Amino acid sequence: MKKMGDMLLRKGSFSEIVMGNTALVRAMIESGTRVVAAYPGSPTPEIADAIGAISKETRPFYFEFSTNEKVAAEITFGAALNGHLSTVFFKSVGLNVAADTFVQLNHMNIIGGMVVVIGDDPGANSSQNEQDNRHYAHMSYIPVFEPASPTEVYTFYKAAAELSRKMQMPILLRLTTHVCHAKEKVRFGGWDPQLPDDTPAFDPGNGPYIPLTTEVFPMKRRALQRLADVEAYANHAPLNTCVDHDNPKQGIITMGLPFLSLMDVLQEAEKKPDILKLGIVHPLPRQVVRDFLKSHREVKLLEELDNVLEKEIKLMAFDEKLDTTIIGKQELEDWIDEYTPDKVSAIIRKTWPDMLPLKTEREIDKPYVPMRPAQMCPGCGHRSAFHAIKKALDENAITVADIGCHTLGFMPPYGVGEILMCMGASTAMGSGLSLFNTTRKVVAFLGDSTFFHAGLPGIVNAVFNKHPITLILMENGTTAMTGHQDHAASGRNFNEVTDRIPVRQVLEGLGVTHIYEVDTYQQSRLTERVKQALNDDAFSVVIAKHPCMLKFNREQRRKPGCQARQVHIDQNKCRQIHKCVERFGCPTFVLEKDNRITVNPDLCIGDGSCRQTCPAEAIGAPETAQGDSNETV
Ligand code: SF4
Ligand code: SF4
Repeated sequence: MKKMGDMLLRKGSFSEIVMGNTALVRAMIESGTRVVAAYPGSPTPEIADAIGAISKETRPFYFEFSTNEKVAAEITFGAALNGHLSTVFFKSVGLNVAADTFVQLNHMNIIGGMVVVIGDDPGANSSQNEQDNRHYAHMSYIPVFEPASPTEVYTFYKAAAELSRKMQMPILLRLTTHVCHAKEKVRFGGWDPQLPDDTPAFDPGNGPYIPLTTEVFPMKRRALQRLADVEAYANHAPLNTCVDHDNPKQGIITMGLPFLSLMDVLQEAEKKPDILKLGIVHPLPRQVVRDFLKSHREVKLLEELDNVLEKEIKLMAFDEKLDTTIIGKQELEDWIDEYTPDKVSAIIRKTWPDMLPLKTEREIDKPYVPMRPAQMCPGCGHRSAFHAIKKALDENAITVADIGCHTLGFMPPYGVGEILMCMGASTAMGSGLSLFNTTRKVVAFLGDSTFFHAGLPGIVNAVFNKHPITLILMENGTTAMTGHQDHAASGRNFNEVTDRIPVRQVLEGLGVTHIYEVDTYQQSRLTERVKQALNDDAFSVVIAKHPCMLKFNREQRRKPGCQARQVHIDQNKCRQIHKCVERFGCPTFVLEKDNRITVNPDLCIGDGSCRQTCPAEAIGAPETAQGDSNETV
């Protein structure tokens, strides 16, 4: 990591193979970005990894993980009002949380400049939906730059930062999962480590900054005018490019990953269409698009997720009475999933059946990739918790999940957490499920990072409106699912050790009177406490705590002298009733063909939380793994 940090701070220009998320950090540095804030979420966590590779002392900008995306957006907006070029980044659905602030941004004069980096997730690789955040940009009058590769992440960020600072408005840099994680050799420019003047520059005279009464319309006019000015810029910006195949009949307008997939697919085409690749997708560079439409008889719009461009381009063609045939989305599947080469190949075949050979070489040679279902890590405290909690629930109970590793409790063998919405929604949904309900207990689940992110209002509401549900707060001390980022109860922030905000004290401060606290490895105690909580005729909280074992284990491994430990099955005691596999479900257990249970030594971490599950007491105490080096736990 130090190497990465050194690389990112090089003064001269250089080339390096990096992923899009890393290229973004170098672009921030070269642009003179001074304040960056974020909330963790895929596909953007590697941006913070790259930032973390630079020591706090040498990092040319301030960075923090804020408590949620809205707070992160407000931190960066506030810093930009003081004249600092700022950037906020988060995942796709994070914009729903930040929306209240985001929609207002272009109504303000952001004198330092502000780039909002979104990691959209076509394919829903790590999100609860595939939302297309260009819609938010449209309703907020905020321009959208959309890079297709790590090189473009770098160049587009720099262009966005420059334009944002010049026009004092926010720019949305829309990344997608593929672009964040793709790697390529990027040619970086030089960096002048001279830091800018940090004198606080906030001046209400730069406003208006109070969007009330008579100021609302002028502020909206200003936002619309700036958007129109960006369109004039977009019509000449080198971020929109044409690939000319000398084909006046067929053209394709596309952007981002679909462009890369298209270039791949067209390698096998005899007669290739011309391509207009948009880098600025909002506002639409109408002059560029008009010229392309006019010079082709048929134009296909190749657009991942929603038909945002299609609506705009068809409307423009109608208004201007263009007679080009415009082909947009043709069937429901065109709205869904990442536009990989296979998907693009199928779409092109639908549009122009003769353009590609019958089967491409890639399709014929496609290797078989087995599915790998999501599951909790070996030794995860959540597994122990679900095993214990399930024993306390009757079959009528309604269980409500939230976002985090514990979401996986819905899977067999636990089946706990039957509905999921979004960050922090479980308590209020559970409260709703308790109304007119005297027969079915309602149990909501919430992680500790989510507790601070968006969980508090639902809890306040449950206390204040006296909703008699049970909340199980799964406290593992970290934001585990997105890569173990610290949160308010971790005792660390991104930069240093800090005061821990204890979950229990917050609950007490909010007026929760029925609180139980149990380590999840103490299964029978946890079962009892959940039963007690369910019998309370009030809002009750069970704090089910155990450190995230993946993080804990990694930290232990770094300590000298640590030895790997594992459990083993005493085959003489084992009655082959398989409760460890069927009810506990640690992926370490292997059901052999002869019905024996064995332990996979490569997976077992030797925490022993499984021992309580075996009625025959056949799982032995963890022992030092035989023949193991002293480098692992
Ligand atoms: S990362 Fe941590 S909390 Fe998440 S499943 Fe693994 S051990 Fe459990
Ligand atoms: S001791 Fe091994 S088998 Fe038991 S829960 Fe931990 S990782 Fe799984």
